[in-house]
Amino acid sequence: MSALNNKVESVFDEPGCAINQGKSGKARRKGCSKSLAPGAAAGGCAFDGAKIALQPITDVVHLVHGPIGCEGNSWDNRHAASSGSTLYRTGFTTDIGELDVVYGGEKRLFKAIREVIEKYNPPAVFVYQTCVPALIGDDVEVVCQAASARFGKPVIPVNAPGFAGSKNLGNKLAGEALLDYVIGSEEPDVTTPCDINIYGEYNLVGELWQVKPLFDQLGIRLLANISGDARYHDIACSHRARAAMMVCSKSLINLARKMDERYGIPYFEGSFYGVADTSDALRQITTLLVQRGAPEDLPARAEALIRREEARVWARLAPYRERLRGKRVLLITGGVKSWSIVAALQEVGMEVVGTSVKKSTQEDKQRIKQIMGEEAHLFEDLAPREMYRMLKDAQADIMMSGGRSQFVALKAKTPWLDINQERHYAYAGYEGVVALVEQIDLAIANPIWRQVRQPAPWATEVSG
Ligand code: SF4
Repeated sequence: MSALNNKVESVFDEPGCAINQGKSGKARRKGCSKSLAPGAAAGGCAFDGAKIALQPITDVVHLVHGPIGCEGNSWDNRHAASSGSTLYRTGFTTDIGELDVVYGGEKRLFKAIREVIEKYNPPAVFVYQTCVPALIGDDVEVVCQAASARFGKPVIPVNAPGFAGSKNLGNKLAGEALLDYVIGSEEPDVTTPCDINIYGEYNLVGELWQVKPLFDQLGIRLLANISGDARYHDIACSHRARAAMMVCSKSLINLARKMDERYGIPYFEGSFYGVADTSDALRQITTLLVQRGAPEDLPARAEALIRREEARVWARLAPYRERLRGKRVLLITGGVKSWSIVAALQEVGMEVVGTSVKKSTQEDKQRIKQIMGEEAHLFEDLAPREMYRMLKDAQADIMMSGGRSQFVALKAKTPWLDINQERHYAYAGYEGVVALVEQIDLAIANPIWRQVRQPAPWATEVSG
């Protein structure tokens, strides 16, 4: 069995994943990907998933070994922000063609690694395998090993060709690459009893920066954020953290569990969306840190900070609560966001008329039911036609979803807000709740809706 098959099988056997553990051995071996219905747009491939998880590491070269289209499809499709280096936003690819398919692309890859090292001198090069070179038998692991020995730099193979499976599998294979080649390879200059890691936070539109000041105020050091606004050195040293938080359960659960198993770093799953969840995350991380030797007064200081911040945020939300009370939302998102955003919306008095749970775990669904009650409308897969009908029948005042379903809302002349990874506003922490509510209010109150809902002048004339 190939190394890739072994890896994929071990990821599917992940004890930390409730969905996989609920399956029979045979079903587990088949993996998690469902075949797509004809006409349905595919989500990303495994390569895309690996790139999404690792590209936010800002100071390394991300070199895609494959035809140029793979890099073209995946390049910078999210708004992961950096506070320093912008090297991660430059697209690098070996751009293999027909001759490489005949003769093999390993030499071309080796030369490309040399070129990027000579030109950019990055602390490391991440090399992504894609379908075509995987099918012709290019061994990226061996090339990376040879290049690393020759150029004296870490050259990290990310073996997640697109055909291996879904985007989510690619996220996990990216986590495996970090565990196999990066984490534990360097040491921090100093360590403190308040060092933490965060897994699955990609600093989209700068969301990490909305919560980091809270940790700073408590003297908690973010040793490594995996992977938003990360530097290679931070991740290489992340095995020295005392505790960790996992933000998006489905993407890096294998990484979180193995960090606990290998390095004794306990973790909890939390969210930074909404006032209550942000406060809860601060409480949980401080409790874990105290168990691992942090100062005893840390939870009390966290409570004081929470009191202060909550008072401030409720005062800022007060005018919006008046305006948004009772407004109905159709929420089409997934994973952790499905329950944490529901909770955040309820905090300002909005009613969630239904939420999708397509990408949610059993645990996520249980949490939604706890928050919304047993009568909650949970949609496994809401067809665009059904979405349109709900909006047309005015069952919701606003739809919050990803860009792919925005046109359903617009066709139904209903306000819409982008809540998925391509969004342009940051919604994390106490600051983020205010930004989210402000954007919802702006979308609902936009005068354009009154205008587009009027009958067209020619329609009035005809009927008159
Ligand atoms: S499926 Fe294969 S060929 Fe297509 S983008 Fe993904 S890695 Fe590239």
